[in-house]
Amino acid sequence: MSAKTYRCSRCHRRYRDTAKDADLWNAVFRDGRMTGVLCPDCQTAGEDLEASVNDAMIDYSTTRLLPDGRAYASYRRTVKA
Ligand SMILES: [Zn+2]
Repeated sequence: MSAKTYRCSRCHRRYRDTAKDADLWNAVFRDGRMTGVLCPDCQTAGEDLEASVNDAMIDYSTTRLLPDGRAYASYRRTVKA
C-alpha cells in the first residue's frame, strides 16, 4: 500500500507527517480542489495569515470530498456555555 506523497509546490521539499513542522504546512485549494501544498518556509505572511483564519473558522474534521471532487468542510460551531 502506498500513501500519496506531497511535495512543496515551490521548493519541492517532501512533506512528512512525522516532521516537527507537519502542522505548519498548508494545503492550497482552487475552486474547492487541492492543487498543492506549501511548506512553512515558502508560505508568505499573507498565506500564513489566511491559513490561520481558515483554521479558526473551519472545522477540518468535517472535511469530505463531494461527488465532483471538490473538498467540503463546515464552519466551526460556537459552543454555548
Ligand atoms: Zn517549500
